[in-house]
Amino acid sequence: EPSAKVIDGKSVAKQIREEISAEVTKLKEAIGVVPGLAVVLVGDRKDSATYVRNKKIACESVGIKSFEVNLPNDASEQEVLKYISDFNGEPLVHGILVQLPLPSHMNEQNILNAVMIEKDVDGFHPLNIGRLAMRGREPMFVPCTPKGCIELLHRYGVDIKGKRAVVIGRSNIVGMPAALLLQREDATVTIVHSRTKNPEEITRQADIIISAVGQPNMVRGSWIKPGAVIIDVGINPVEDASSPRGYRLVGDVCYDEACKIAAAITPVPGGVGPMTIAMLLSNTVSSAKRAYNFN
Ligand code: NDP
Repeated sequence: EPSAKVIDGKSVAKQIREEISAEVTKLKEAIGVVPGLAVVLVGDRKDSATYVRNKKIACESVGIKSFEVNLPNDASEQEVLKYISDFNGEPLVHGILVQLPLPSHMNEQNILNAVMIEKDVDGFHPLNIGRLAMRGREPMFVPCTPKGCIELLHRYGVDIKGKRAVVIGRSNIVGMPAALLLQREDATVTIVHSRTKNPEEITRQADIIISAVGQPNMVRGSWIKPGAVIIDVGINPVEDASSPRGYRLVGDVCYDEACKIAAAITPVPGGVGPMTIAMLLSNTVSSAKRAYNFN
């Protein structure tokens, strides 16, 4: 008898997109500014191309203008840096996003460092991450996926303050900033990673679990404290002969087992995924407003 409440990221994201769309209209009517997002895609990875296309479509749906640069896999780092530098100086562009991963011959650090922090809508610039980690400092932008996780907790009325939170995974783009954000929200945070011994003993103490690992169904029902809230960031393909594509997507958390124990859980797909793009749009509009001191 599944009892967990389903945290419906798809419908929350839709609501947020409507809010953003109204803000974009207001900004345009008041001061004639259209927010702009530049996306830099290098190489021909199919998954990256899909993400970029979805971001573009989402931009258009709320009235954000998108600029796209598509470079071949053998482009040089200098070329990428040149485009970033142009976008840094382009007043119609308020956000710059470099789709990761970059081809292996490029230095990701050099490229992410080149995005000016006022346009770093992914929040990956070390200065933004550093500010996120420091008490009393404010980043210009917070990374989209972890921001979406916290937004889901807020919109579902989940108390974070004083709660025990466990983040599984410590990547620069999801796990680490998710842990920093939870700490800023006054949770007591523990991070579990691939070298953690007996992770299930740690996760069983959590009131809130954010999982960003990339291992299908790793978090079993027995890892979860009754009544915990689960945010599952993982997007993992598993073979499924009954699906037309031959695979389907599952999270890091064994959904059927977790549903019987948790108080609330995000589905995969339809949980965190749609929130990531909604937060990107939100960051882009905030950036345009900040550029013109518009509230
Ligand atoms: P990374 O591969 O960069 O990081 C995975 C993290 O999980 C690492 O910190 C790693 O530990 C840890 N880990 C790996 N195996 C285990 C294990 N057996 N036990 C405990 N920890 C483990 O992945 P990302 O953070 O980029 O992505 C994680 C997942 O989230 C993926 O499925 C990805 O597809 C999905 N994702 C979803 C997004 C969305 O919009 N919903 C956006 C971004 C990612 P260590 O540091 O020790 O190596």
